[in-house]
Amino acid sequence: MLELIDIKKRYGSKEVLHGISIKFENGIYGLIGPNGSGKSTIMNIMSDVLDMSSGKILYNGTDIKELDDRYREKIGFLPQNVGYYPNFTAKKTIEYFGYLRGVNKKELDSNVEQVLRDVNLYENRNDKVKSFSGGMKQRLGIAITCVANPEIIIFDEPTVGLDPEERARFKNLIRKLSKTKTIVLSTHILSDVEEVADYIILIKEGCLTKFEKIGGKDNE
Ligand code: ADP
Ligand code: MG
Repeated sequence: MLELIDIKKRYGSKEVLHGISIKFENGIYGLIGPNGSGKSTIMNIMSDVLDMSSGKILYNGTDIKELDDRYREKIGFLPQNVGYYPNFTAKKTIEYFGYLRGVNKKELDSNVEQVLRDVNLYENRNDKVKSFSGGMKQRLGIAITCVANPEIIIFDEPTVGLDPEERARFKNLIRKLSKTKTIVLSTHILSDVEEVADYIILIKEGCLTKFEKIGGKDNE
């Protein structure tokens, strides 16, 4: 369980997060707000790639700053804009990021094969990334995010540039993953996530304005 407690963030003298408190358990959380409202800032802080100005985050009751690496290895983070090496194949790209994440050699092969199958890119594993559509690159990003088998997955604006079919595939995939994980995804378009999210978090000008559990949904 992940708990954000009164998170504030200032850039210089400008405060952009004004005290965000949210508890996350397993399931899919849609972080929704207009551009500039603070979604990426929250996600960067949750992923421990950006320091907060005040507040704290507890992972199963322990401060993440105390856990340090032991926290970061639980996290899979797909930032808003990711660049890939165009001449790497899908398989090589995932191996490369898995290696950087410290997945050991013995597990790497089987993890890479597993995530390639999960995102439905196994047949394309030897194709170069430069031949991929936007949706295929998105799925590659998800595969990379999952290769070290994180407990918490954070996707910043994952549905940008996806066509309806790819969007549906993405929803099915995260629905499957969410049974055992916490998944947080941001968007500025509510309709992108309202179907798939278990919880909706509305952010406006650095404040949490609404937290809602979506009830009565078919969880298969
Ligand atoms: P969102 O992801 O919802 O579009 P962001 O978290 O990117 O919003 O930005 C929230 C606010 O913080 C915006 O006003 C943005 O201009 C500001 N901001 C983001 N990053 C920086 C930075 N590195 N330096 C200064 N201001 C920033
Ligand atoms: Mg953003």
